[in-house]
Amino acid sequence: MEFPVEISEIHEGERIRKPEMRLEFGGLNVDKKFEVALVQPPGQVEDGKITIVGPDLPQLEEGRSYRLGILIEVAGEKVEKDLEGVLERRTHYFLNYIEGVMHLNQRSDIWIRISKKAYAKGLNSLNWIGRALIMLFKKTFPIIEKIQVTFFTDPEKVEEFYPKALDTYAARDAKARGMMEEDVDEFYGCLMCQSFAPSHVCIITPNRMGGCGSISWFDARAAYRIDPKGPNFPVPKGQCLDPVKGAYEGVTKTVNERSLGAIQDVWLHTLFHHPHTSCGCFEAIAFYIPEVDGIGVVHREFKGSAVNGLSFSTLAGHTSGGVQNEGFLGIAIEYLRSKKFLKADGGWERVVWLPSQIKERILDAIPEDLRSRIATEKEAGNIEELKVFLQKVDHPVVQRWKAPEKPAAEVEVEAGLEAAPMETVPLPSEAYLTAVSPTGGGFRIILKNAKIIAEKVIIKREEKK
Ligand code: SF4
Repeated sequence: MEFPVEISEIHEGERIRKPEMRLEFGGLNVDKKFEVALVQPPGQVEDGKITIVGPDLPQLEEGRSYRLGILIEVAGEKVEKDLEGVLERRTHYFLNYIEGVMHLNQRSDIWIRISKKAYAKGLNSLNWIGRALIMLFKKTFPIIEKIQVTFFTDPEKVEEFYPKALDTYAARDAKARGMMEEDVDEFYGCLMCQSFAPSHVCIITPNRMGGCGSISWFDARAAYRIDPKGPNFPVPKGQCLDPVKGAYEGVTKTVNERSLGAIQDVWLHTLFHHPHTSCGCFEAIAFYIPEVDGIGVVHREFKGSAVNGLSFSTLAGHTSGGVQNEGFLGIAIEYLRSKKFLKADGGWERVVWLPSQIKERILDAIPEDLRSRIATEKEAGNIEELKVFLQKVDHPVVQRWKAPEKPAAEVEVEAGLEAAPMETVPLPSEAYLTAVSPTGGGFRIILKNAKIIAEKVIIKREEKK
């Protein structure tokens, strides 16, 4: 079949900036959007059928953002319901193969841009995108006997189907909740996001879904079984070095190998020392708040500033790209339900702030005695208000504030500050401080882009015994 643009892996990772886009679907400016894959009985799928419910690309105004729903229905004797999540996530891959199409995120967070250049070349109908999807799905998964694709661009139709999409995701997520890392011999890895974050290797366990929130341990296992050469692969657990931090011999070896040495080690359940890397399509960010020694969580759809004054996109800048940045961790919303959720850092006892929308969504996963003691934007809009709130409700982190100070000799100062005579310097408004409080041994402070006002700084060398 002749396409007006190229369809190839070489287009993965292509970025389309706003001035270059013909239009976009979803993203931050659009309230409702989704992509969902469903396995259907053969009689309900008409092979090759593409339906556009609402206006097509030429009828949509240039430069604007629109609602979109993508429904992919497949059938085949060997296509099991378990594969829905796997197939759905491949939409990310396949749409990015199309020259002039950029696909980010997943599920009800999708963000798709079509470039002006591609539109001018003839990519002027969603029909082409449907044809590309059908071709790529059938080529990659020969077990698919029938496939049909529906695009909803009519905003009311998106609204109508939206709750069904959310129910589908919720049912899928619930499936993996009963299992623990201790119950399995192997985890799974995912390299799907390496086209955007080359050193990122997702480790997926029964207690840790991929950061995008769309690949559970079951999904990754199913994906490997039907496509062993694809982006998902088994990760032998090896010896468990620390069940609390989530340190495993096999994980260390795998991230080392698959990141080509860029990442030395990953601990699965902590923000500190060796946090999991984050690509860019995580659903939420867990971030350390040094002023209260607590952890905040903010999700992609939260429009305001988090309690530390930073927007989601600013925090994402510190979190993404496949690097390890202590105190910042991209997570799936489902990870908030994990029995090992940030276990090494204190789990829910350390969480002090999260947006009310997320709190309501996962309220049943928060220990009952903490529910009213974790602030949202309604109780605390900044750090000062947060401190007052935490003291008022006697949040467990308040106990940490009373811990005795470490002697000066145990403070390690990074960034070439050692023994330098300190001048008085102003604190710029953009400066931020990340103080990292590890969960065991010593104390380390990392100062990033910070200027410090101090009358005197004394740094003592530890006496060698
Ligand atoms: S976030 Fe992780 S699990 Fe999800 S697609 Fe990317 S690499 Fe795979």
